[in-house]
Amino acid sequence: MGSTERFEDVSPIDEEVIGGVARGGAAEAHAAVAAARDAFAGWGKIAPKERAEVLHRIADGVEARVGDLAAVETRDNGSLLRSHLRSVMPRVARNFRFFADRLLALDGSADAAHEGYAEHVTWDPAGVTVVISPWNAPLMLATWRVAPALAAGNTVVQKPPEWAPLTASLLADIARDAGLPDGVFNVVQGLGEEAGAALTSHPDVARIAFTGSVDTGRLVARAAAENLTPVSLELGGKSPFLIFADADPEAALRQAVNQFDNAGQVCLAGTRLLIEGSIYDDFIDHFTEAAASIRQGDPRTETTDLGPLITRIHLERVAGFVERAKADGARLVFGGGVSAELGGLYHRPTLFVDAPAGSEILTKEVFGPVLTAQPFTDEDDAVALANATEFGLAATLYTSDLARAQRVSERLVAGTVWVNCFFVRDLNAPFGGSKDSGIGREGGVWSFDFYADVKNTVVAPTPPSPHRSTEGEQERRT
Ligand code: NAD
Repeated sequence: MGSTERFEDVSPIDEEVIGGVARGGAAEAHAAVAAARDAFAGWGKIAPKERAEVLHRIADGVEARVGDLAAVETRDNGSLLRSHLRSVMPRVARNFRFFADRLLALDGSADAAHEGYAEHVTWDPAGVTVVISPWNAPLMLATWRVAPALAAGNTVVQKPPEWAPLTASLLADIARDAGLPDGVFNVVQGLGEEAGAALTSHPDVARIAFTGSVDTGRLVARAAAENLTPVSLELGGKSPFLIFADADPEAALRQAVNQFDNAGQVCLAGTRLLIEGSIYDDFIDHFTEAAASIRQGDPRTETTDLGPLITRIHLERVAGFVERAKADGARLVFGGGVSAELGGLYHRPTLFVDAPAGSEILTKEVFGPVLTAQPFTDEDDAVALANATEFGLAATLYTSDLARAQRVSERLVAGTVWVNCFFVRDLNAPFGGSKDSGIGREGGVWSFDFYADVKNTVVAPTPPSPHRSTEGEQERRT
């Protein structure tokens, strides 16, 4: 079943229309859920080892087509081709390999056995999983959910982002060629408020994995609540990047400049530079100099560091933040608009200082190459500024004093804290956000805890012990 309606897919590189994409609505969403529900009867019963083998074959298929996937993703969302080739697409393959292997390593033995009672934990397939993801890293973010859901024995319906929809359909081809049975992985192209809303409100859906903005996250949570569908929400951020006076200046500077990566369209980006007062002016000077050497241009060119924003609508959204920051009294140090040379959607790296406390530019997510800098006086001040938003996705701090690093990181409210590094993460580690940045953690066993139905089976000793109703026995039965 396919919609005859289309929406236009526009490349951010040159704003040319790439083509028309099927605009699935409620009918297509319901058909995909029905197909996934039917396929669950088979896929959910396949032995973990066989499921893992199929996932490894999908990874093989991704690796064989890294060049195609990278070229399509770059044209579709404007991210750097070299990053897609070297890290993003290999990571897509790794998402499948990692969860295939992690599935086989799940250990259900529990050490809470009493008087010969055995307890055993299993991760049972849950059912149909809906995966909805954003455009800033479409295939990587989607497969971070699709892979564990399939590994857990679930079937999947994915609704790709309408601003970068193409690689999801390529993944469906790769999965089919890898031998994934029909109906196990389904892609419904369409708009969020149409296909997305129809999927998240469907009563036959067992799990919803949503990555996107806080506002949409609230809509998804409301829809999920109606059916009591467990939902994982990976939402926005406004992460702090703290630089203490004793930090390695070059390492801190290099990493601070990296916060402009992907034109700032990174949920984890440390967009609020918090700098110890004694080095503040110096750091801003060096940062301004370093940012001037960022090479902006066509993301397909090897030497480009920074590409375009995703769409004109998003460019206008970012421009609105810049104008309101100025109106609120923040001072523009550099950037502040589209590159005069490149035009189009190429917004220049931008830095604001002296923004009034609590103002929009210090508290709301811009999701563009717009950073702020603020000085702090001491650890207490640094922590207070760092935690002064409704977000809690990540935090980064640079200091050469590891005791201080420990004290400060303990007080930061964030799902991930990086000390003297950024973006490094083992796939076994928990990932997610605190406060408005999300609900739940994924990664390693946390992913299986979400995608599977976790069951504890308690087996009495053989022969069964005579039934006693002592206090201790009651305790064991709860
Ligand atoms: P968005 O919320 O606008 O859209 C995300 C997805 O939701 C899209 O696929 C969209 O089609 C769909 N959608 C829209 N309305 C819907 C509805 N009513 N019901 C169901 N689905 C609907 O977000 P975006 O602009 O695509 O992405 C940017 C946001 O994503 C930023 O806030 C960013 O921080 C966040 N993000 C978070 C993470 C993370 O891991 N925490 C990672 C990447 C991006």
